[in-house]
Amino acid sequence: MAITDPLTGLFNRRYFYKRVSDMNNNVKCRALIICDIDNFKLVNDTYGHGTGDLVIKFVGNQLEKNVRKGDMVARLGGEEFGIYVEGDSFTHCIDTAERLRKSLHKIAFDEVGTPISVTASFGIAIHREGCVESSVHKADLAMYNAKNTGKDKVCVSDTFA
Ligand code: GH3
Ligand code: MG
Ligand code: MG
Repeated sequence: MAITDPLTGLFNRRYFYKRVSDMNNNVKCRALIICDIDNFKLVNDTYGHGTGDLVIKFVGNQLEKNVRKGDMVARLGGEEFGIYVEGDSFTHCIDTAERLRKSLHKIAFDEVGTPISVTASFGIAIHREGCVESSVHKADLAMYNAKNTGKDKVCVSDTFA
C-alpha cells in the first residue's frame, strides 16, 4: 500500500507529512518528534542486516505501542522515525518523547534469541500551523543535538517560533 512502510507496517514518510499538514482539530499543542536509532550500523555489522531489520521492527512496534490515541508514528526511512503528538502542553509532548525513549530499553531478540539492547536519540519541536518540513527540520536539529551530547536522550528544539 502506498501509505505504509512494508517492513514495519507503519505509515511512510509521504503519508506522515500529508496527515500532519492536514491536521486541524482543536488541541492546545502539537509537536513533532524525530527518533533515530543509536549506533545502528553496529547492529548490522555485528548481527547482520536481517537482524537489523528485526530491530527496526521492534523499535517501530514499541513506539506505536507507547503513543496515545490521536498521535501518529511513521518510519521516515532507514532507522529513523517521525512521531506526531498532541496534548495540553508542550511539557506533555516532551513527557511522551521520554516515555518512548524508555520504552526501547526493553531488550530486542534476534531469530536465535540473542538479546540486543537498543537505544535511540530523540529531538522534539513544536509544530505550529504551516510547513511540516520546517517543524521536522527543527526536530531533526534537536535530535542531532541529542546524538552529539551522548545519545539515548531527548533534546528539545530551542527554536520555538
Ligand atoms: P548514530 O548513532 O549516529 O545514528 O549512528 P548509526 O550507526 O545509527 O547511523 P548511520 O547513519 O551511520 O548508519 C545507519 C545504518 O542504517 C546504515 C544503513 O546501512 C542502515 N540501514 C538503513 N536502512 C536499513 C534497513 O532498512 N535495514 C537495515 N538492516 N539497515 C538499514
Ligand atoms: Mg539515521
Ligand atoms: Mg542512527
